[in-house]
Amino acid sequence: MPGIYAIGDCNGLTMLAHAASHQGIAAVEHALGHAPAAHGQPIVPACIYTSPEAAAVGITEDKAKEQGIAYKKGIFPLAGNGKSMIDEGEAGFIKILAGAKYGEILGVHMVGPRVTEMIGEATLAMRLEATVDELVTTIHAHPTVAEAIGEAALAVDGLAIHWPPAAKK
Ligand SMILES: Cc1cc2nc3c(=O)[nH]c(=O)nc-3n(C[C@H](O)[C@H](O)[C@H](O)COP(=O)(O)OP(=O)(O)OC[C@H]3O[C@@H](n4cnc5c(N)ncnc54)[C@H](O)[C@@H]3O)c2cc1C
Repeated sequence: MPGIYAIGDCNGLTMLAHAASHQGIAAVEHALGHAPAAHGQPIVPACIYTSPEAAAVGITEDKAKEQGIAYKKGIFPLAGNGKSMIDEGEAGFIKILAGAKYGEILGVHMVGPRVTEMIGEATLAMRLEATVDELVTTIHAHPTVAEAIGEAALAVDGLAIHWPPAAKK
């Protein structure tokens, strides 16, 4: 109905608190006649606060296949990241899906320590339509778990540097 806005869980789009908040802001801005802050397809991260943590943004491989999107992927095991090892997160990983032709980031999926804090970088990268090359050339501080994002971006083209020996087999 004109003038009635449905934000949050009631519209069934993305049943997460931060999605509801942003939809609320967009609805108020629209009601006041301002251009909504968000545009295009919303890029909404999702986190699971288990041990280990899980976090994701963008499409999954299943979705890419379903939609016929040509993609390449890089997986970096956190066994190759020192800060993750300290947190006993060596079983974790970061997976990046990128467009096969231009390398635009399509989805980022992470399992491991502190990944719910790191999904923001992936979300911003997607929001700015970054490519894996732009992730690769972004300097990540050492030692951080976030370094593994750069490594996963390198892994998209098989170029990860601190690749753990187990993953080489
Ligand atoms: C156990 C649990 C854990 C969750 N954990 C997370 C998480 O970690 N991160 C995350 O992003 N999301 C999480 N969610 C989802 C998140 O809570 C929802 O997506 C978010 O609260 C949706 O906001 P909303 O404003 O649409 O609805 P709500 O927050 O449900 O707000 C709706 C409000 O409307 C009120 N209401 C209902 N009917 C009426 C009525 N007839 N008249 C007046 N008021 C009414 C309700 O009392 C409620 O206060 C979790 C949800 C659950 C259940």
